[in-house]
This record gives sequence, C-alpha cells and structure tokens, in this order.
Amino acid sequence: MTPNEGVTATREQQVIKHYTLQVTRRRPMLETQDYQCPYCGEPVEAVLDLSAGDQQYIEDCPVCCRPIVFLLETDGQNWHLDVRGEND
Ligand SMILES: [Zn+2]
Repeated sequence: MTPNEGVTATREQQVIKHYTLQVTRRRPMLETQDYQCPYCGEPVEAVLDLSAGDQQYIEDCPVCCRPIVFLLETDGQNWHLDVRGEND
C-alpha cells in the first residue's frame, strides 16, 4: 500500500454575506375615532393615521361640508383627538 500523498483537496470557502436591506416601510396604523361635528353636531367617524405622529389637519364635515380642524396627538399607539371649528 502506498500512502496516499499529494491529494489535497483545496476547498474554497466562500463566505457570502447577505446584506439585508431593511426598508423601513411606513405602514399606516389606522384607527377610527368617533367625534361630533362642531358645527352640526352629527356623529362622524374619523380615520386616524397614527404612524404619522402629531398632526393637525382640516377635513370637511361629510354632513354639513364645513371645515373641521383635527388636532391629533399620538405616540403611535395611544392617541388623543381634538376636533373644533375653524374659527374656534
Ligand atoms: Zn357638520
């Protein structure tokens, strides 16, 4: 028996690095909140996007079409909504 020499298997190990690109996709966190229109007093349901942080915006009342000011304070989980008339 001759010793099995010279047979060296060179094995290249390729370390493949996976660079995971984490795209932070803004997922809207939508909640609904009932409120009363400050003009006509009708109950309306507002859709709040909690992922956008504190915000102030104006939407027309779906009943009387007058502009309602929304003041939304949120930390992404809890929220507090104030609605008022434009001239209040
Ligand atoms: Zn209204």
